[in-house]
Amino acid sequence: MSDIIYTKVDEAPELASASLLPIIQKFAAAAGVSVGTKDISLAGRILATFPDHLSAAQRQSDDLAELGELVKTADANVIKLPNISASVPQLVAAVKELQAQGYPLPDYPETPQTDAEKAVRAKYDGIKGSAVNPVLREGNSDRRAAKAVKSFAQSNPHRMGDWAADSQTRVAAMSSGDFFSNEASATLAQEATAKIVLETADGETVLKEGITYPAGTVVDATFMSAKALDAFLAEEIEKTKAEGTLFSLHMKATMMKVSDPIIFGHAVKAFLAPVFEKHGAAMAALGVNPNSGLGNLLALVKGDAAIMADIEACMAARPPLYMVDSDKGITNLHVPSDVIIDASMPALIRAGGKGWGPDGAESDANCVIPDNSYAPVYDETIKFFKENGKLNPATAGTVQNVGLMAQKAEEYGSHPTTFEIPADGTVKMILDDGTVLHSHAVEAGDIWRSASTRKAPIEDWVELAIARQKAEGCSAIFWLDAARAHDAELIAYVKPILEARGVADKFQIMAPREATRASLEIITKGENSIAITGNVLRDYLTDLFPILELATSAKMLSIVKLMNGGGLFETGAGGSAPKHVQQLVEQNHLRWDSLGEFCALGESLTFLADAKNNDKARVLGQAVDAATQGILDHGRSPSRKVGEPDNRDSHYWFARYWAEALATQNSDADLAAHFGPIAKDLAENEAKIIAELAAVQGAAVDLGGYFHTDPAKTAAVMRPSPTLNAIIG
Ligand code: NAP
Ligand code: MG
Repeated sequence: MSDIIYTKVDEAPELASASLLPIIQKFAAAAGVSVGTKDISLAGRILATFPDHLSAAQRQSDDLAELGELVKTADANVIKLPNISASVPQLVAAVKELQAQGYPLPDYPETPQTDAEKAVRAKYDGIKGSAVNPVLREGNSDRRAAKAVKSFAQSNPHRMGDWAADSQTRVAAMSSGDFFSNEASATLAQEATAKIVLETADGETVLKEGITYPAGTVVDATFMSAKALDAFLAEEIEKTKAEGTLFSLHMKATMMKVSDPIIFGHAVKAFLAPVFEKHGAAMAALGVNPNSGLGNLLALVKGDAAIMADIEACMAARPPLYMVDSDKGITNLHVPSDVIIDASMPALIRAGGKGWGPDGAESDANCVIPDNSYAPVYDETIKFFKENGKLNPATAGTVQNVGLMAQKAEEYGSHPTTFEIPADGTVKMILDDGTVLHSHAVEAGDIWRSASTRKAPIEDWVELAIARQKAEGCSAIFWLDAARAHDAELIAYVKPILEARGVADKFQIMAPREATRASLEIITKGENSIAITGNVLRDYLTDLFPILELATSAKMLSIVKLMNGGGLFETGAGGSAPKHVQQLVEQNHLRWDSLGEFCALGESLTFLADAKNNDKARVLGQAVDAATQGILDHGRSPSRKVGEPDNRDSHYWFARYWAEALATQNSDADLAAHFGPIAKDLAENEAKIIAELAAVQGAAVDLGGYFHTDPAKTAAVMRPSPTLNAIIG
């Protein structure tokens, strides 16, 4: 096993790796540090799942499973880049691409009938959605902006949209019948095995059995009423029309891979309600599944003039939709994974509450977030900016995050314990001793889900919070709502630990709405706060605050202190930026910023130095930190526009600053001697390398694929400077 594992992923970060990783491997090798790769890309995971369909040469090892074992050991040192959490349309597209490349994979069965189809579907379901992070996250999350990154943002503040006091932008959430209001939660005194059953007039169906929980696990159950959801959506569509704003829906169809595509499908149906009423049967016969989005629906019905005419008439009578790409006519409802709440809401808030409409102009929007568990965070943020005006990034303090996520804690809606209920009845969660832990009266179509959180991760999370608060000395808030069932169980863990450690006075416990306001007040004063949150808010807040404070969440330090002693270093808090790939393919310009990778690499090398007493790794890591600082100080981050320096230029500068820092340090003479000539070569050839990199921009490029690119073609595109390549070796 290599000293450090650098993950192979998808889309923009993987393109960036084609340029950056050879530099990292070469520099690390000089210090005797090996950097290997493991493939957790969507295409790689698909290939690893179907060995029986592939030839020996086509087969691929199950790298995710290997990494899943590695992170349970003290030896783990993994740099994890963002990967695709595939929605169904993305998964189907990836399978098609691989088939076209000659991999005889089975089709994704939309409606599996035979046992064989059901087996294939079950395998694909394992790849869908957030399938990677829950496997690797054997520890809790510590995310913050490195000091250098925060001070850079303060001295180079990004532009923020102005907030008008009379902005019509608002958040709409359900007031009853949602996951939030139906939640029940209990902490198990003993270990238990549970089953989930649905009792109906016709008898009992087992939805799931043999679920085992260690003692101390917090087990929740809740459901969203389909009727209440439909009524809410219909009402909000009408209200949006009356208010004259854009209708926008913000979901997490990737992470909440079971529940949220269903909710998204309800929204598609609600928006086109008259069309579904009239043509529902005909559309079903054409294979329409609203959960796959309006884009898929239009592709399937475009041959039917009558349906198309009714869709057009319906859309004309509806409020305008918030757009993903108004030039191409791609709406919010086209693809379930195009609008992802943790990226979409902060971007809208940063823009002063504006979204893009079908006319290509900016408008106020009604932000529909059906479940009320976390909608108040965005609602309160919007209210705060309407009252106080936009945040000033030049003076704002920072909100860091300590997030509970170890061992699949609080994986709402992505668990195999989420169900779309087939018939009216009662869902019960029953323990092996006969105890009915939770019971809900449900109706057909309701979405019922259970999630669990183990004791050891909760305790580890509180300890991490105590350590981080001690290190920072700033305000620290547990974002927990005493009135919410699940949060009340967590508070019962948190309070005694804080008291036993004598630090209860250093922490506050507040419901998300109050915590949002308090945190915004704190950073407006230029002070800092630590948000100690559950898994979902970890995800949401580590985009929201960085996007407001730093313009992007890509530059975040994201450290996962693994519970068994290893280290997992995620690179930033953002995703794989599909829009960046489009720009590269069309214009050969990659605006991806690798700062998250630079930060993670520095941390990973320092961790290696500490864990293995490796002094050379320490020198290497300190030099990475100096290089990262150099990138910030000299403004070497990529530009957004073709013809200007891009990701590849920033890697040249990173290599150069890294080599210079190694050449000039005096802790390790061998490394200084080795990197002296490299630093000199990189400096002397600056003009030539920059010219070679600039020369390629402007024209379209071919990567030989999207999900499964051709390595040689990608390397040719991403390493276009022969001079730089020769120096790197
Ligand atoms: P996203 O990839 O973070 O993209 C949203 C926007 O953030 C981008 O369009 C880009 O803005 C900006 N951005 C993100 N990273 C950047 C970087 N390193 N440099 C410069 N700009 C950056 O979020 P998304 O569109 O919601 O999700 C896309 C995919 O990523 C999905 O498949 C999702 O499942 C996956 N995802 C993975 C993880 C993970 O593995 N940890 C986390 C989140 C999302 P501009 O376009 O304005 O430049
Ligand atoms: Mg996120």
